Amino acid sequence: MTRRISIVIPVYNEGRNIQPLYNRIHDILINARFNYEIIFVDDGSNDQSLSEIQRIAKADPDVFYIELSRNFGHQFALKAGIDMAQGDCVISMDADLQHPPGLIPTLIEKWQNGFDIVYTIRKDDKNTSSFKRKSSSFFYSLMRVLSDLELEKGTADFRLMDRRAVDAINRFGETDLFIRGLVKWMGFRQTSIEYSPGMRHAGESKYSLGKMISFAYRGITSFSTKPLLLTAYLGIAFFIISLSYLPYALISYFTGNAVNGWTSLIMTIIFFGGLQLLMLGIIGLYLGKLVLQVKQRPLYLIRESNHPNLRNTVNET
Ligand code: UDP
Ligand code: MG
Repeated sequence: MTRRISIVIPVYNEGRNIQPLYNRIHDILINARFNYEIIFVDDGSNDQSLSEIQRIAKADPDVFYIELSRNFGHQFALKAGIDMAQGDCVISMDADLQHPPGLIPTLIEKWQNGFDIVYTIRKDDKNTSSFKRKSSSFFYSLMRVLSDLELEKGTADFRLMDRRAVDAINRFGETDLFIRGLVKWMGFRQTSIEYSPGMRHAGESKYSLGKMISFAYRGITSFSTKPLLLTAYLGIAFFIISLSYLPYALISYFTGNAVNGWTSLIMTIIFFGGLQLLMLGIIGLYLGKLVLQVKQRPLYLIRESNHPNLRNTVNET
């Protein structure tokens, strides 16, 4: 029996990309004679994305849509699709044609050779804006320093996962999702291939600077408590420094020079005030994550879908 391939595509306002992407994927999969399903996850788009997907799904019984109840974000849309997928392997890719569909047969070939996870590494070229290149490079360096995870530069959410790995992902109960980190952490038999990203077919990137910063924060805090450790080290270091300042303060007092200390006093107050706020802030970040995790809310809500695996729909069409 031929094994089945699921392709999961998160979509947020990609109306003009859906048809061209579908055409490319369809051609590749038909030529390769694979048994497949394509799952588009509409992440609360407010353009024609959903109707485009539904139109294609009407004509092709292997195409499914999942409409989320609002915009939950890239990682959660991806998770919704992965949860629903029925394939023996799941390929995730972006909807904007930056992840070349032409690579799908190579991913599958590696899988057939026995790899559980085939991930891709983006080789930046002229198609990548210099802002994107710099911010992404900074992101991966920061990740490396602050977390205990060795993520390679340019690891994207374009990858193939065997059913084993998918089932493993589905056992994670994390509310703050950073899928590419989880995948790295999981182990299994992994291999990677390089690709150069295409131009975005239409529309613009949904990852603004703000979103990228919060993505970086999520990646770091999901995989490491090093920032907390750092605050403890800083605390110890300054405690020692302030201890050594004590003799100086005492000597000043006994020699009658105590009133002169205004400048050093105000500087110390400002400095330590700032330091303490910073440390409290870092502790607060983790505390906030804890609150969200404790609530155990669902990661996403589905409004409607035509996928057979669905249990959660409000109403079927
Ligand atoms: N996306 C999503 N929800 C969001 C933002 C993005 O589902 O809130 C999808 C988007 O439609 C695309 C993928 O995630 O398929 C990656 O987004 P984008 O191409 O904007 O990111 P970039 O390639 O610029 O990093
Ligand atoms: Mg993109």
